[in-house]
Amino acid sequence: MKQRTIFSNATILTVDPDDRVVDAVAVEGDRIVAVGALDETRSALPDANLVDLEGRTMIPGFVDAHSHLIMSGELGTLNVDLNSPPIGSVLSIEDVITRLSARARSTPAGDWIIGQGYDDTLIAENRHPTRADLDRVSQQHPVLARHISGHFAAANSRALEIAEIGPDTPSPAGGVIRKDASGAPDGVLEESAMFSVMVRVPKRSRDQRFGAITHAATAYARQGITTAQNGFTLGYELEDLDAAIAEGRVPIRVVAWPGLGVMRQLESGAISVGTSADRLTVGAVKLFADGSIQGYTGHLCSPYHIPFKGQREYRGYAAMSREELARQVDEIYAAGRQVAVHVNGDAAIDDFLFAVDAAQRRHPGRDQRPIAVHAQMTREDQLDEMQRLGVVPSFFTLHTYYWGDRHREIFLGPERAARISPARSALERGMRMTIHTDAPVVPMTPLLLMWSAVNRQTTSGKTLGAEQCLTAPQALRAMTIDAAWQLQLDESRGSIEVGKFADFAVLDANPLADPSAIRDIGVLSTYVGGERV
Ligand SMILES: [Zn+2]
Repeated sequence: MKQRTIFSNATILTVDPDDRVVDAVAVEGDRIVAVGALDETRSALPDANLVDLEGRTMIPGFVDAHSHLIMSGELGTLNVDLNSPPIGSVLSIEDVITRLSARARSTPAGDWIIGQGYDDTLIAENRHPTRADLDRVSQQHPVLARHISGHFAAANSRALEIAEIGPDTPSPAGGVIRKDASGAPDGVLEESAMFSVMVRVPKRSRDQRFGAITHAATAYARQGITTAQNGFTLGYELEDLDAAIAEGRVPIRVVAWPGLGVMRQLESGAISVGTSADRLTVGAVKLFADGSIQGYTGHLCSPYHIPFKGQREYRGYAAMSREELARQVDEIYAAGRQVAVHVNGDAAIDDFLFAVDAAQRRHPGRDQRPIAVHAQMTREDQLDEMQRLGVVPSFFTLHTYYWGDRHREIFLGPERAARISPARSALERGMRMTIHTDAPVVPMTPLLLMWSAVNRQTTSGKTLGAEQCLTAPQALRAMTIDAAWQLQLDESRGSIEVGKFADFAVLDANPLADPSAIRDIGVLSTYVGGERV
């Protein structure tokens, strides 16, 4: 017989269309069967077990609008953590070298040493580590240090040699191999240039890979997330997720976004997913239109505030031409799939809107919900166009906390920084939008994300663009029902309503009560399909 449970004595924020607040919810098996007052739920399920939530707050489990589950697990288990405060403790290039050297001493010569999360603008020297720095870590091991944005990496001589990158190697399309004064690669690889090294890193063992997935999924569950996202999923990663879920090693639901190559393999049947769609969904196909603003590779329409290396006209660059982006988006539409494109700068957003407009003309009549991932520099006229085309912006709102001060002072200047991630402007048009952490770019902390969207406070305590602050109910919606809607999964999750999965988070305080205190709220328990995970 199916398990029958009534959760009661709680402030239950249903996030249903009326934002109803109730005090009991009845669950049979993995589904919600009644929502309301205790006596109503009791008459629906007379013989159910009663779980007394002792006056706590229950919300729908958070739906992760965009992050990288597997990469988050790698940071927690396999890669050396190079983050600076407030996330980690690396303060200088010397710290980077020390951390990586410690790993090298316990790693057989020839094996790769991978670091993750350094931030050139937060370390004392204000620069990326170079080949020379990383050669001090080891000459016997290939060493790769990945930037916090995920858009840069620094390699030592051994790693460059393995990737066959030398003085005569030209920069690839959509990337830059940085060179020193003598013309030799200085080790820093921008955007697509980084992949020529990354593809040489051997796949980790099955145990390591599955361990990383379980580690991240457990950490997400602890934060109240019941549906996680894995942006830009490689073919073997999709197969890993499928197998790890089948083996019961993943306590939450997962949505994987394949790249275009993996989409083609799925279309041809070269890759398939066996796990039930309740646990693993293959979602939108992920493309990249530009890089990262804090790395000076976000593609802007007007120049950066403090010019990059003195170049006054420099505006970052596109990951591919507008025509190529349109061709790829068209291929995805033709396959009947949803598309999600990484866009940070307003020039990249222009390219994306051009591509979506063209694809919709050729394939009219479908509700594709194309996703603008990050959408940080979206202008008002671009919001109008997004609304016309049915594009869903997913804002990287936590940037206002972690990078807000530097956006104002270094990258964008006060005006553009104040309206970064214009979530309020989108809602005022009646659009639906979501907010995300992009973990492991920043840690998976949904309540800090919610607090940030409501307060837009930077790490120095200043407010960045008060006009774009959300109310707490708006922010909660963007992380639950609207995130589920963006993922085309709102029929089954995202709110506490009859017929949906019994996916909940129980909090030690009501996040709608005090906007300034949201970040201090703790997650007491997380339920997926009615089971406490
Ligand atoms: Zn991402």
